[in-house]
Amino acid sequence: MTSIVVLGSTNMDLVAYVARAPARGETVTGREFRTVPGGKGANQAVAAARAGAEVSMIGAVGTDDFGVRLRAALDGAGVDTDLLRTAEGPSGTAHIVVDDEGGNAIVVIPGANGAVTALTHGDEALIGNADALLLQLELPLSVVTEGARTARRLGVRTILTPAPAKPLPPELVAATDLLVPNEHEAAALTGVTDPYAAAEALLRVVPEVVITLGARGSLYASREAPPVTVSAPRVTAVDTTAAGDTFVGALAVALGEGRPVPGALAWASVAAALSVQRPGASTSMPYRSEIDMETN
Ligand code: ADP
Repeated sequence: MTSIVVLGSTNMDLVAYVARAPARGETVTGREFRTVPGGKGANQAVAAARAGAEVSMIGAVGTDDFGVRLRAALDGAGVDTDLLRTAEGPSGTAHIVVDDEGGNAIVVIPGANGAVTALTHGDEALIGNADALLLQLELPLSVVTEGARTARRLGVRTILTPAPAKPLPPELVAATDLLVPNEHEAAALTGVTDPYAAAEALLRVVPEVVITLGARGSLYASREAPPVTVSAPRVTAVDTTAAGDTFVGALAVALGEGRPVPGALAWASVAAALSVQRPGASTSMPYRSEIDMETN
């Protein structure tokens, strides 16, 4: 079984559904409120576990009720939380307003995620035994960098989702094997909007890149071979939240199993396409049997 460690965030998503988002100083009455376990790290962990890997999560939840629920959600998904810390204070929260056009505005408050500032010997041992380390940018950049450098030193593949978009420390880039931005993040990192040009620019600093292109699929580029594009299955999307996290989780599993890149991308695309046809983030992520059924 492929073994994956995620060093990343857990957030409780607090989602308000409204006809339209309020302007500054305005109050509007919304339709519905939901609390949904999320965070890019936790979402990728659940996606990889459902796709058939043995997954461990390094991060932190708070000492509030959300912390209990966030940990339980990961446990329920079969993710090992032995090294998930409980940090004094509130859990990370994402305050999300979704309007009737499907647009959203989000405030993320890191809470306990900000307390993950260094790796322990236990974390290092776990990373050293993994096939891949998955990283995003919702923990302090110093610890994300430490994680990538540790994995690199131990010969473990590092897969970085550069989201939310922000400038990357050079030491983090130098320890990244595969960078997986969406097209907006790729443009923010490179200053160019054309995905092929962005991929070419990114290959100057990392050996492999996958740029996800929403309903248009994804683009893989490496220093060794010409770029490969994989189209996304044509489906009716009802909720694209965490499509990228589902894609990365499944891609890491497929690559960990030694599948060649085109097949791994196609498999991850099927996983992501299944997730966008169902509402929710982690709730929408497909199981391995479902991905296999759509692939064969
Ligand atoms: P993010 O969720 O990070 O913004 P994307 O929107 O690029 O990332 O989506 C990630 C992947 O999910 C895409 O590469 C594609 O495989 C799949 N996907 C996203 N939207 C759709 C869609 N409408 N139909 C089919 N697949 C989709």
